[in-house]
Amino acid sequence: MQMIAPIRGMNDVLPNEIARWQRLESVARELLHAYGYDEMRVPIVEQTDLFKRAIGEYTDVVEKEMYSFEDKGGERLTLRPEATAGLVRAVISNGMLRGARHKLWCVGPMFRHEKPQKGRFRQFHQIDVEAIGFAGPDIDAELIALSASFWRRLNIDRVRLQINSLGTAESRREYRAQLTEYFRAHYDVLDEDSRRRLEGNPLRILDSKNPELQSLIVSAPSLPDYLDEESRDHFAGLCDRLQALDISYEINPRLVRGLDYYSRTVFEWVTDALGAQDAVCSGGRYDGLISQLGGEATPAIGFAMGVERVVALLEQQTAEADGPAADVYLIAQGEAAQRAALVLAESIREHSPGRRIELNLGGGNFKAQFRRADRSGAALAVVIGEDELSRGVVQIKPLREGAGETCEQTLATAAASVAQWFKNSGQS
Ligand code: ATP
Ligand code: MG
Repeated sequence: MQMIAPIRGMNDVLPNEIARWQRLESVARELLHAYGYDEMRVPIVEQTDLFKRAIGEYTDVVEKEMYSFEDKGGERLTLRPEATAGLVRAVISNGMLRGARHKLWCVGPMFRHEKPQKGRFRQFHQIDVEAIGFAGPDIDAELIALSASFWRRLNIDRVRLQINSLGTAESRREYRAQLTEYFRAHYDVLDEDSRRRLEGNPLRILDSKNPELQSLIVSAPSLPDYLDEESRDHFAGLCDRLQALDISYEINPRLVRGLDYYSRTVFEWVTDALGAQDAVCSGGRYDGLISQLGGEATPAIGFAMGVERVVALLEQQTAEADGPAADVYLIAQGEAAQRAALVLAESIREHSPGRRIELNLGGGNFKAQFRRADRSGAALAVVIGEDELSRGVVQIKPLREGAGETCEQTLATAAASVAQWFKNSGQS
């Protein structure tokens, strides 16, 4: 029969890769807790209009990357391409605003119909962090500090921070006019996307990935020259705090980010270790978004981290990819011994929470079972044959040199469980 193919750009995370994902997630969970953020879970599907309104009609995401469909009831829905819109929608729908402040985060898959390549997928994962109700720049600095300590905890050092200020929508108006004029004067050089964006949202052109446009973009009018005074102060306040925190940064005047809802602070952590897909964590302030989505005007800032790209950075630190190892492997031969081992394994698990206790399943001779035990990575084998069973003992064999403390601890709990079990089953 013909195989059913996986969907292009959507990956399976295999057991030998999962340790890095889990490490990343547990470090993130710990840090987010430490900084006062609460996890929230929202649907993966939302009304298409939510993303159109939040992200902007002239973005790559809305123009060509959304997985949109009509459901059986005729509703126009979209698989979320990013998390901020959904979280903000949820905060509004649940009546959580009313002047309150929220520090929230979520993790999960996002969907964009992009051209799949290294570091760019159609289903990818983000850790998304949002601080709602804070005008900054203190929260801007704290949020960036949180991302910086994330890299420290994971020993990731090939990342650099870029920041910029987009000013307010009003202050961008003049800049936008200048930019439109500039790009119009170079209309013949522009690609099709940029021509379309010229009238709709010329700032988008600055975010173009087309290499042929880069020199034109570099010489374009510079956004910081057009900032209003308050945005300038806000930005200076952020820079000042980053210096106090000893977080180095580069000001990139062309950093505009790919979504329309940003205002004032934007930032991006980039790496030189992953080739073309260099952004690992991107964020910014979105003071206008909440009212744009029907909530009361509330300032907010957030970021999203690309999990696959961070996992790829972790992968470069440690080349070997092993699945999680067992602590104890139970070997049993003969029907009665196998039954005893099944019960004994339960007892060891009960007495050693957090340990991985694997029972040999499906029989096999001692040699085959020891081979499996070895492959499981277990530090210890507990062996029961008919002889052991009749004498009321088990053999405990260390399988790994230098398992050290783990070995001793498991040995102690295993021995206690064994003793307990023999006592209960009245065999000793
Ligand atoms: P890029 O410039 O790489 O397209 P973006 O500006 O579209 O990124 P955001 O929408 O801000 O990115 O998403 C935040 C983070 O999510 C990015 O910094 C990146 O790490 C990750 N990311 C975005 N799109 C993808 C994708 N298609 N596959 C894997 N990771 C992605
Ligand atoms: Mg993109």
